[in-house]
Amino acid sequence: MVIIGLTGGIGSGKTTIGKYFKSLGIPIYIADKEAKALMNRSKVIKRKLIELFGESAYKDGKLNRPYLASKIFNDKILLDKMNAIVHPKVTAHFKRWLKKQNAPYIIKEAAIIFENNLEHQYDYIITVIADEDLRIDRVIRRDGTSKEKVKSIIANQLSDIEKIHKSDFVIMNNDLDEAKSQAKDIHSAILQKLD
Ligand code: ATP
Repeated sequence: MVIIGLTGGIGSGKTTIGKYFKSLGIPIYIADKEAKALMNRSKVIKRKLIELFGESAYKDGKLNRPYLASKIFNDKILLDKMNAIVHPKVTAHFKRWLKKQNAPYIIKEAAIIFENNLEHQYDYIITVIADEDLRIDRVIRRDGTSKEKVKSIIANQLSDIEKIHKSDFVIMNNDLDEAKSQAKDIHSAILQKLD
């Protein structure tokens, strides 16, 4: 199965573009969403996260995301430890999911690909970009976070320029209709490559 990576910075529109590919019949696996689901569902992950972060990792039986986010934001070692617990489970879940798909290719949406040198896991990579002020406005509107918070997350991520360099395709998502049109062309180009 051909695996396409869909990445981009916070608020660039990965999920929005992923939905468009889905409308073209392409199965989408959203790695971050599945990771969160597994962190709530898997007893093994739960036990290990409590060992790592303490009982506050969960609140009323649910993953305490704000607590975890505040703990890992400026602590690379802790983030790596959390990833070492969660990532292998997500990878195994993805492999099971992949076996069930029947399509010319599938898309795996993941915020982090280049940052962890995971390019080799994908046949092609699409990066979604958008102007920073638009991304900030979108995330503030979506999550109710502050401008400073979004800016600090952007500062922590690889720059668009670096991502573009490492990508096979780029979608500029300032305007949704234009982005969809680019996505449609990329869909055709991928199908052609697979011929
Ligand atoms: P994150 O990395 O935070 O998960 P993302 O890259 O998946 O974000 P989306 O969730 O798709 O981004 O988009 C962020 C917000 O911006 C959403 O509320 C979405 O509806 C909105 N949005 C996405 N693309 C556009 C667009 N072209 N025009 C206006 N709003 C958009």
